[in-house]
Amino acid sequence: MPKIEDIVFRNSFVEELAGDEELKNYPRQVYNACYSRVDTRISSHPSLLIYSKDLAKELAIANPESKTFLDIFSGNAKAKNSFPYAMCYGGHQFGHWAGQLGDGRAINLGELISNNKAYSLQLKGAGSTPYSRSADGLAVLRSSLREFLCSEAMHYLGVPTTRALSLAITGDQVLRDMLYDGNPAHEAGAVVCRVAPSFIRFGNFEILSARKDYSNLKSLCDYTIKHFFPELGEASKKTYLAFFEEVAKRTADMIVHWQRVGFVHGVMNTDNMSILGLSIDYGPYGWLEDFDLEWTPNTTDREHKRYRFGNQGEIALWNLIQLANALYPLIEDVAALEAILDRYRSNYVQDYYKMQLAKLGIYNLKASDQAWIEALFSLMKKAELDMTIFYRNLANFDENTPKEHLVEVQKASYLNAPDLKALEGEILEWLESYATRLKEENTKKEERRKKMHLLNPKYVLRNYMAQMAIDEVEKGSKDLLLELYQLLQHPYDEQEEMEKWFALRPEWAKTKIGCSQLSCSS
Ligand code: AMP
Ligand code: MG
Repeated sequence: MPKIEDIVFRNSFVEELAGDEELKNYPRQVYNACYSRVDTRISSHPSLLIYSKDLAKELAIANPESKTFLDIFSGNAKAKNSFPYAMCYGGHQFGHWAGQLGDGRAINLGELISNNKAYSLQLKGAGSTPYSRSADGLAVLRSSLREFLCSEAMHYLGVPTTRALSLAITGDQVLRDMLYDGNPAHEAGAVVCRVAPSFIRFGNFEILSARKDYSNLKSLCDYTIKHFFPELGEASKKTYLAFFEEVAKRTADMIVHWQRVGFVHGVMNTDNMSILGLSIDYGPYGWLEDFDLEWTPNTTDREHKRYRFGNQGEIALWNLIQLANALYPLIEDVAALEAILDRYRSNYVQDYYKMQLAKLGIYNLKASDQAWIEALFSLMKKAELDMTIFYRNLANFDENTPKEHLVEVQKASYLNAPDLKALEGEILEWLESYATRLKEENTKKEERRKKMHLLNPKYVLRNYMAQMAIDEVEKGSKDLLLELYQLLQHPYDEQEEMEKWFALRPEWAKTKIGCSQLSCSS
């Protein structure tokens, strides 16, 4: 394996697409270009907090603990043949066209080729770019740690996602008004190195289309298809339609995974939608604890709850409609685009319920299942059942003794004893209906248990866990961060020594900032 200083980067994005001619770095509108060249900011005292051994190995980097690795992935040095750049993209934010956004604090280093695969490497928090608008281009430790842990947790859960190679502290202070209440404070700055085949978003296409820059729109589409969807063939209207359909499929697949594991993204703006169907931009995200389709962790979205858990499938569709509009000038076929959106809708519903039933160990679908699942959801909400614990323990359910499982369900509840007692009849009724459904299914309990365990994780990154790791790191210890990273690499396995993480959210975490609600400030 080569050392990072010997690896020669590739730059297909920069070489094959139009770049901004202005090389000075100041906030501006960038026209007729897909990116702007930028330099990363030099940090005063960078130190490596954590890195992914697995990913470093996959990237064939021999020396992830070296000073050169730290220098390159904190932005203090350049890899060979790296020409850093920030992408130009726009986006619909909270339902409204926001114009140019772009990589305001993400800087792409180029592509690293390992084992014939190309990986784009990007630093988040390494300084301002022409797209920074009035912001500083930096990121704070708490949000960077949350991004590192969560994107890695998602990867090990089998959810399509960008990954994180490293998390470095810069040694510099960053000013943030965390609660947006007029009390800014200094916090530790950090840089995460993210890794994905590409970081192109819906918004990259939207901005070119909105500006009627159809020549660059076509180039970007052709580039994306050539590198990431080569099986679709040569550029043509038909190929663009196939491309859009594939994006829709991958997006649906990603959201079904989110619903399966209880992940709420929190800011599903079109600039945060990957064209490869990857979960991207981990900001005010959260994990469902007490089951609630209405829940959103994002304080900015508290009023309308546009990005609530139960709305993520619909929002993805809304975002795909924006992408369809952006691609329209290349396709000029409304009916064909609408047909794809219709297929997204029906496929999503189908895959979603199929997944919901598989979580229960049921594989033969019935017409009444949708209503039955919805009834389970309203019961889970009423009984305030912890999503992870409830599903995980359901693998122990015995269809011959449904009543015995009552106590297991009760253990997953956040309700107080009298309120829970009042729901006993309803819970029992559902358990009995479950027993009947499983008997129809006629599967062996042990087999069912194994399959259910592969869909219902035992360990997820509960909101308070990330916050505890942040508090510990801020106090100078990374033991908990390392422990959680270890835990989350095997989310479906029983890990006896880690049993404490398979528990209800502690009472103190219910209202603590960072554990229940998060702002976009990061
Ligand atoms: P987000 O809500 O994090 O997806 O960000 C929306 C837009 O704001 C993107 O264009 C980001 O690059 C930009 N942005 C967010 N935070 C910063 C920051 N601290 N400095 C510069 N740009 C930022
Ligand atoms: Mg973003």
